[in-house]
Amino acid sequence: MTPMLRQYLEIKEQYKDTILFYRMGDFYEMFFDDAITASRVLGITLTSRSAKDDTNKVPMCGVPYHAVSSYLGKMVRAGYRVAICEQTEDPRQARGIVKREVVRVVTPGVTTEEQILDEKSNCYVCGLVLDKQKKSKVAGLSFLDVSTGEFLVCEHQVDQEYSQVTDELTRMMPAELLLPESLEEPLAPLLDTLTTLLPGLCITWRADLQFDRDTAHTCLTEHFKTSGLEGFGCSDLHTGIRAAGGLLLYIQETQKTDLSHIRRIASLSRGEHLIIDDASRRNLELTETIIGGKREGSLLSVLDLTRTPMGARLLRQRLLFPLQDRSRIQARLDAIQQLLVDPGIRRRLREILDSIYDLERLCSRLSLGQGNARDMTSLKISLARLPEMKEILLELGSGLLFAIGTELDLLTDLYELIHRAIREDAPVSLREGNLIREGYHDELDELLVLVRDGKQLILALEEKERQRTGIPKLKVGYNKVFGYFFEISKIHADKVPEDFIRKQTLVNAERFITPDLKELENRISTAQERRLELEYELFLEIRRQIASHSGRLLATASGIARVDVLCSLAEASHRYHWIKPKLTAGSAITIIEGRHPVIERSLEPGRFVPNDVHLDQETNELLIITGPNMAGKSTVLRQTALLVLMAHIGCFVPADRAEICLVDRIFTRVGAMDDLRRGQSTFMVEMNETANILNNATDRSLVILDEIGRGTSTYDGLAIAWAVAEELADKNGRGVKTLFATHYHELTELARTHTRIQNYSIAVREWNDSIIFLHKLVKGATNRSYGIQVAGLAGVPAHVVKRAHEILKDIEEGEWQKSRQKVRDRKKQPAEKENSTTSQPCQLPLFAPGEDKLHRFLKEIDPDELTPREALNLLYEARKLL
Ligand code: ADP
Repeated sequence: MTPMLRQYLEIKEQYKDTILFYRMGDFYEMFFDDAITASRVLGITLTSRSAKDDTNKVPMCGVPYHAVSSYLGKMVRAGYRVAICEQTEDPRQARGIVKREVVRVVTPGVTTEEQILDEKSNCYVCGLVLDKQKKSKVAGLSFLDVSTGEFLVCEHQVDQEYSQVTDELTRMMPAELLLPESLEEPLAPLLDTLTTLLPGLCITWRADLQFDRDTAHTCLTEHFKTSGLEGFGCSDLHTGIRAAGGLLLYIQETQKTDLSHIRRIASLSRGEHLIIDDASRRNLELTETIIGGKREGSLLSVLDLTRTPMGARLLRQRLLFPLQDRSRIQARLDAIQQLLVDPGIRRRLREILDSIYDLERLCSRLSLGQGNARDMTSLKISLARLPEMKEILLELGSGLLFAIGTELDLLTDLYELIHRAIREDAPVSLREGNLIREGYHDELDELLVLVRDGKQLILALEEKERQRTGIPKLKVGYNKVFGYFFEISKIHADKVPEDFIRKQTLVNAERFITPDLKELENRISTAQERRLELEYELFLEIRRQIASHSGRLLATASGIARVDVLCSLAEASHRYHWIKPKLTAGSAITIIEGRHPVIERSLEPGRFVPNDVHLDQETNELLIITGPNMAGKSTVLRQTALLVLMAHIGCFVPADRAEICLVDRIFTRVGAMDDLRRGQSTFMVEMNETANILNNATDRSLVILDEIGRGTSTYDGLAIAWAVAEELADKNGRGVKTLFATHYHELTELARTHTRIQNYSIAVREWNDSIIFLHKLVKGATNRSYGIQVAGLAGVPAHVVKRAHEILKDIEEGEWQKSRQKVRDRKKQPAEKENSTTSQPCQLPLFAPGEDKLHRFLKEIDPDELTPREALNLLYEARKLL
């Protein structure tokens, strides 16, 4: 083994689970298995290097250091963890092999590389531990985004399905999950679910000790320099704290640098938020579409007109954590109104936001010792716009934006520091000089003068000596042997001063040096070297100085993000004609002329048909909505949920008028397309979601049910739908506000017996043999499905549609049995199963609650018409129905 490879292996030993990028001059090299993996992932050539002699070669590949970011990005996106190993001493001064050390580890969840991060969402690493407390099991979770310094902690009850934990994880979407080793087995079911719900999630196992309660507490309090965690409002989250401590230890280990930008830990309390579970969040397509998981087509894509990455991330969070605090929501709504009343202010603010960079991530890079001079210039450009922003916010005179303006720290000191110190044309590299402006540091100024004007200074000295000696022909010269010298013709030998040291005698002249000349020469030759070093040192000092203000910087970034979000929502409200919802203290929801914020955008202007929806606790608790397929049932359901949700994030809504009460949870059971992702049957998923709704919905919840009970036989399905509707209308004597779209027309009977249930339908107009969708929600039930007409519209061949019409006619005239017999006779095919699960285009002969088969059987018998023998036979038949 060469000494270099020996050193490599020693370091690699400590970073076994990473790919080691080993710095050698201008390259990061990888060896052995790492090289094989990296060459495959990165698509670079695999070579080899002799370990000792030619017979003993080891695989090797490398990437140039200046392009390392994009290679790192590729490795990490492919799910690998990369340890960056740098040369930690100057190779010129090294004796033997250059010292090297791993300076940081980049993982999918712990990174500040721009190449890896998505600027519009957070990149979280999550720590998770389980604890048994009293009788129940509790999960502690903690999330940290190293690129912004955000640090959160929470706890959840653990049930068999880990539903709350799954919910939290799918909401926060961490890139990496840290788990104590001992949980490998107990957590297997959760991990199974997560591999389908969060594909690409990187799992990192850590020793249990890392999550020890005392270690965690100490780690956190030492980091925050506090005596306890009471000040952060999370001291009683014992399990959460274990997760947070384990997480921070991991970050300290991988980043090996100052983490002062992580300033606080906050409790992710769910109590103050409107809760939307994972299934509903996906069903409502809040941040991505169900099919394809695309951002385009989600509610977020319509709301997001932010101009800064901080704003985009904050908006996303607001959407996932709507509020329940009326005064905070109201303040946001009022602020949006101010921005709508004065379009000039909105335009000016948005123009300023345009030139503001990602301050949160800039700040973390600077704090983590990774920022370069260009980052500082970006920071400066951003800060330069703040006074103007503050002035505009203060012009508003009152309200949320005014308050943000009052608090906005302009960071003038940091701006001035960067302005004074950093050259705007500075290169990315920190070792090539040209970072620091002239006038910032005396010694550097001298050095710069020396480097630039070295020759001039030598000539000036020549002139000075000429004057002093009175030898007009005294000349300065240079050779490689002894550098600069003065040459004096022999004629003037008598005038040579004492302090001239003779170095060389030529035929006609003599060459001298002087201490001054040598000192100057020395200064010039070392100046360049010293200058590079000094610029580097000064830069690091300035970077440290800025990092020490990271708390202020992050506070300003947060103010900017809030302004950006409000401007974005105001801009959307303006562009799409949304109105300010009224948040009422009551328990009713009234939406007049409401529109679906996303579907409306995909249609031509004016084509979306607005609808009214009214829900209250007295008479309109549960609305049964019928109508043919494609009429717009789902649309009206989802739009109601979306409008209620938008109001709760403090956003205007697409409607003519909206009065919305505070809601604690929104539940949805919608025919989701992604059911199979969980590897459960559609029916099972549907029933799980229904169970969740029935168990957790309160009289302050909003429930959206679309087509419940379809995954089983028609009778079962109808029975379940019926029972669920009854339960929701009456739950706890107050019921739950529910929109219930269904194909079971029988359910419309419920309105007769339940005062809180009302029938609605989506109107269609018959036209010739076809129908026209009016998309209008109207009061009253419909008793027709128009399934055959819809089939025709969908392109089912005309003769099949015609035949379907005939069959339907037969059924409606009670000729069903005959019709089937005819078919059997004609085709001689085996009989269909009686309770076929395919949907039948017929109304089921089930009319009122309490009616069963026996009941109906008896109803159809006319005893006066029967012979005694027939009566006896029928009695036997009837017993079979029991
Ligand atoms: P259903 O749930 O009744 O089968 P959907 O709600 O899925 O029907 O609506 C089907 C399609 O009809 C939608 O994709 C949309 O294009 C259109 N649509 C629905 N509601 C409206 C509306 N109010 N205005 C205009 N088009 C609508």
